[in-house]
Amino acid sequence: MTAKSVVIVGGGQAAAVCAIALRERDYKGEILIIGDEVHPPYERPELSKKLVTGECSLESVTILNDVRARERGIRLLTGCTVQAIDRAARTVQTNTGVFGYDRLVLATGGRARRLEQAVATGLPVLTIRTAADAELLRQQIRPGSHVAVIGGGWLGLEVAASCRQADMQVDVVEASARLCSRVAPPVLSRTLETLHAQNGVRLHCGAVIGYEPGGLVINATTEIRPDFLVAAIGMETNDELAARTGLATERGILVDDLFQTEDPHILAIGDCAARRMPEGGAVRLESWQNANHSALVAACQIADVTPPSAEIPWFWSDQFGKKLQMAGNLSADDDIIERITGPDERMGLHLRDEVIVGVWALGSVRDFAHVRRWLGQQTRVCATRLSDPSLPLKAALMPEIPSS
Ligand SMILES: Cc1cc2nc3c(=O)[nH]c(=O)nc-3n(C[C@H](O)[C@H](O)[C@H](O)COP(=O)(O)OP(=O)(O)OC[C@H]3O[C@@H](n4cnc5c(N)ncnc54)[C@H](O)[C@@H]3O)c2cc1C
Repeated sequence: MTAKSVVIVGGGQAAAVCAIALRERDYKGEILIIGDEVHPPYERPELSKKLVTGECSLESVTILNDVRARERGIRLLTGCTVQAIDRAARTVQTNTGVFGYDRLVLATGGRARRLEQAVATGLPVLTIRTAADAELLRQQIRPGSHVAVIGGGWLGLEVAASCRQADMQVDVVEASARLCSRVAPPVLSRTLETLHAQNGVRLHCGAVIGYEPGGLVINATTEIRPDFLVAAIGMETNDELAARTGLATERGILVDDLFQTEDPHILAIGDCAARRMPEGGAVRLESWQNANHSALVAACQIADVTPPSAEIPWFWSDQFGKKLQMAGNLSADDDIIERITGPDERMGLHLRDEVIVGVWALGSVRDFAHVRRWLGQQTRVCATRLSDPSLPLKAALMPEIPSS
């Protein structure tokens, strides 16, 4: 049966990409996006980068404004919250009315985790998830002013870099022993530490933080008295709406490889979707690529065309004018080969039994793109040649594997 109407809940990147992809795949039914933010759908990556420093505008990262939506026959409801789903009646209840669907796509993303203890400081505590958050942060950024960023993950480091580039005093306080410890191997954490220390960021890893009026106590000798705090301590998934309607959730809405929930009429995509793994458990990815890919797969399902094949996950971050990129599976237990091609250019290539399974790069954008194509192909490489910067990357391919 051809679906006649699609309702997409959540006005973020995944929602917009899914709606546009449906039209591009000749889907003829009605498409309605319902998003609770006042802005039409935009991409978030620049929020912590060029948007807070004023180098780009919200308009330039907007994916689907009212005009573009109208041109494509997509109905866009902003500032509107879906409060409940009636799966039997196939309707969603919002603060402005009830809408029926044949297929429902949940693209509800996540929200910034709050740092309740920080209230004790009496200082402004900002987060960075939405355009409104970025605007508040932009207003606080001034030369000479002092910020303490709580959380040394990607977002915290991007905020730190943006603030430092605006000549602010910046402290980054991280509870674990190293930066980005959840996703980066120790060698990459050290690379990040060097980058930030060289650029004047004061790093406090393994810090036990006491929150006191006016500031933070790190240890017996270190107190920080900033003008404001940024809590960059991760995201909470917006999966409560799905859970309330009886869909299975596990820190995300559980889906299969095609982003289908256990209800054949409901898909979930982007940051809110947790894919069941064949070996058990579920994986949820928070990245631009995953938002895009899952949206395309969902659109193809609904439009009844062949979906794109699975992609190797990849991610990027920009800090101090350097591009950091990661792809594939990165574990500290891999054989990690470092390839240093310049003072500001290095890569870490992750091997398991000589097969390349993951890669990260600081600066080396072209080499990264090259290696990314080898992932997922059982590509065997020679570690010694890989680490020799005088040899081209291709020289490391094992002879029996034809180069692409
Ligand atoms: C500051 C920042 C920087 C980033 N930088 C990078 C980067 O450099 N590289 C990278 O790969 N990724 C980056 N990301 C991650 C990437 O932006 C996200 O993975 C992506 O935005 C996820 O898109 P989404 O549509 O799934 O979710 P979201 O963007 O979270 O959108 C979901 C939307 O749904 C709305 N919503 C939720 N519930 C309801 C409801 N009941 N009714 C109506 N609306 C609802 C939410 O308010 C939100 O607007 C960054 C993220 C942030 C926050």
